[in-house]
Amino acid sequence: MVLGLSLITIVFDLHRLMDDYLETGGHSYLQDLFIALNMTGIIGLIYSALRIRDLNAEIDRRITAEDRAEWIACHDPLTNLPNRRALDAKGGAIGLAHAQGMGLVVYSIDLDGFKRANDLWGHDFGDLVLKTVAQRLLDIFPDDHVLRLGGDEFLIVAKRAGCLDLDATGRTILQRIGEPVRIGHRSADIGASVGYALYPEDSTDLLTVIQGADNAMYEAKRRGRNTVTPFQAEIRAVTLRRARMEGELRAAIRMHRIVPYYQPLVDLKTGAIIGFEALARWEITPGQFIAANEFIALAEETGQIAELTDSLFRQACRNALTWPAGTVLSFNISAIQLSDRLLGLRILTMLAETGLPPTRLELEVTETALVQDPQTARLILEQFVGAGISIALDDFGTGHSSLSQLSTYRFDKIKIDRSFISTFEHSEKQDKLVRAIIALGAGLGVKVTAEGIETESQMAKLSALGCDIGQGYLLGRPAPLPASGQGVVNHYAASAGASALSA
Ligand SMILES: [Mg+2]
Repeated sequence: MVLGLSLITIVFDLHRLMDDYLETGGHSYLQDLFIALNMTGIIGLIYSALRIRDLNAEIDRRITAEDRAEWIACHDPLTNLPNRRALDAKGGAIGLAHAQGMGLVVYSIDLDGFKRANDLWGHDFGDLVLKTVAQRLLDIFPDDHVLRLGGDEFLIVAKRAGCLDLDATGRTILQRIGEPVRIGHRSADIGASVGYALYPEDSTDLLTVIQGADNAMYEAKRRGRNTVTPFQAEIRAVTLRRARMEGELRAAIRMHRIVPYYQPLVDLKTGAIIGFEALARWEITPGQFIAANEFIALAEETGQIAELTDSLFRQACRNALTWPAGTVLSFNISAIQLSDRLLGLRILTMLAETGLPPTRLELEVTETALVQDPQTARLILEQFVGAGISIALDDFGTGHSSLSQLSTYRFDKIKIDRSFISTFEHSEKQDKLVRAIIALGAGLGVKVTAEGIETESQMAKLSALGCDIGQGYLLGRPAPLPASGQGVVNHYAASAGASALSA
C-alpha cells in the first residue's frame, strides 16, 4: 500500500514537471496528448492498486477457508470437541507440554447404557445426551484436552499438576456422567467405564499411553459398569492375548471349525432319546478344547456372536435332518442374541433354507436374557412361538425373577439347573426345591428336564418324582456327530448311558 502511494506521488510529481514544461513553450496539441497519456497511466495505476488489494483479500479468504476445513476435519460437529484426527495433529503439542516437565494423565471413557437410551428415545435425544456429557467433561477439565473419539467414547488428556488423586478424579468423571440426563419428559441414566494411563510413566509415546488407557477402560468394562481402572502391564498382556484370540475366533467361525456336539435328552419314563441339545465345541489341536463359556463370551464382546450362532445353527439343522423323524434339536440362544431384533427373522430364514420343520426345533433361553432387554426378548419369543418353535427356560433357578418370567412368557419346558441335581440327594432344602419345580411344571402343564444327571440313584429319584426328561453324563456325554453315518441315535443307543435306563 505504501509502495502504491509513493508511486502515485512520483507520478504526480512527473505530471507537474511536464505541465510546467508544456506551459513554458509547448504546443497545445502535444499538451493534449501528454495529458491523455498521463491520465491513462494514472488510471492504470489506480486499477493495479485496487487489483492488488482484491488479491490480498482473496488470499486471506482462502487461508480462512482452509483453516475452517482443517478445523471441521479435526472436530466432532455435534459436540464441537476435537476428534480422533485431532489426536495425531495434537500429539506434537502435547509432547511439547511434556518437554517443559509436565506429566500427563489420559482418561479413556466409554458410556454404558447410551445405546439403550438412544433406542428408547431416538437419536435426537441421544445427541443431546452426548452434548450434555461433553459439557460435563469440559466442566471438570476446563483447561485440558477433552476429545470425542466417536460413538460414545471420550478421551481426556490432562496435565498432572502436583499430587492429583487420579482415582478420585476418575470417580468424579463417573459421578458427573452418572447424574441423570433429563430433557423434557425423557430421561436417561447413563453410566461409564473409565480407564487411565500415565505419561511418561506408562510410555514415553503419547499414542501408546492412549492405547493403555483404552485397554484399562475395556478392563473396567469387564469388571462391571461404573468402575475406574488404572493401566497395568498385565492388562496389556491380557488385551494382547484377547486380541490374538479374537482373530483366531474370527477365522474359526469363518472356517466352521467351531462345531456342534450333541448331548441326548432322554424320556425318563420310556428311556427313549427324544432329542439332542447342540453344544458348541472348539477343538484347537486334537484333544485340546477352548472352554465354550470363554469363546462365547469373547464372541459376544467382539460382536461375532451372530455369525457364530448362524454357523452353528446351520450345521445343527443339517445334522438334525439325518436323525429319525420327530427327534428334537435343542439349541441355545445367548442373552445378547435375545436383544437382537433381527434374530427371529434370521432363525426362521435358516430353518427354511435347511428345511428343518420348526416343530422339531426347541430354543433354550436363560432367565438372564429375559431381564436384560425384556421388550425385545418378548418380541422375538412371540415370533418363535408363532412359527411353531418350542421354548425351554434354561438353567432354571439360577437367574433372576424366575417365577415372574414363568407368568410373563409361554414356555414349553423348564430345565432344572445342574447345581440342584448335584446336591438334592444330600440337602433337604435342595430336595424340596427340586420337588417344587417338578410340581410347578406339572401345574403349568410344562415339561421338566433335569440337567446334569450323573448317577443311577439321581435318575431313579427324579423318575420317581415325576421329572419328564433327563440329561447328563449318565445318559450320554456331548459328542460330535458319528462319522460312520449310522445316525446319532443309534450311536447313543449303543452307549452305556442308554443301557442304564433299561436296567
Ligand atoms: Mg442349555
